[in-house]
Amino acid sequence: MQLAHLAWPEVERYLASSDAVVIPIGSTEQHGPNGLCGTDFLTADGIARAAGDAAGVLVAPPLPYGMATHHMGFAGTVTLRPSTLMAMVHDVVGSLHRHGFRGFYFMNGHGGNIATLHAAFSEVHHALAGCRFRLTSWWQNAEVRKLEKELFGEKNGRHATPSEISVTMHLAPGAVEPLGAPAVIEHPRHDWPLSAEDFRKTFPDGRMESDPSLADAGAGKRLFDLCVKLVAEDLWSFTSGGRAADAQDRDAH
Ligand SMILES: [Zn+2]
Repeated sequence: MQLAHLAWPEVERYLASSDAVVIPIGSTEQHGPNGLCGTDFLTADGIARAAGDAAGVLVAPPLPYGMATHHMGFAGTVTLRPSTLMAMVHDVVGSLHRHGFRGFYFMNGHGGNIATLHAAFSEVHHALAGCRFRLTSWWQNAEVRKLEKELFGEKNGRHATPSEISVTMHLAPGAVEPLGAPAVIEHPRHDWPLSAEDFRKTFPDGRMESDPSLADAGAGKRLFDLCVKLVAEDLWSFTSGGRAADAQDRDAH
């Protein structure tokens, strides 16, 4: 069920039985020599819509921009300043809160968003009563990492991974041009975060330690189906009053 496909009376009817909404968020940024600039919001939105349908939870339109300053050395990348991203989250959540939404489940596709989203949640918690937040980044899950390892081993790398590119090949057939030859994997020394200029110097084609030539749509479907199952289960726990204490974030002290 997508907010974009409902009329307002239908949204009111939904709110009579649920106050939860999924908000997919990604980034528009370079993803190596053949990955799509939309990879991070395409994956987040695809997983969110399928999982939302499975769990009966409304899914808002995806937020296609994120915090991607370090990718600005490559054409096509668009970044929000962290302060803009926080303001966008505050305004989107604030609008939905005014209509009665209280449970905000962020389905994230971009690692660079995580720190800023946590800061935004703290700010919104302070300003608006009764909010519940959960942030899920689809690849940060033991079962997903196990499948990634089985599919791509050490060649999954850290950016423009064959995993995320495979999921876009499944979601947007024909959009990704296959790479002709395996990519050479290097592990250059660097400190994080990198500036836009230093990122391009350190990782000249935009990949970080990955071989995107391994990506394929069949692997993408396996990863996508697993993520949808896991996120749907997580949505059940989110809408039925929270996650078990032993499953809480370990750093949430
Ligand atoms: Zn990505």
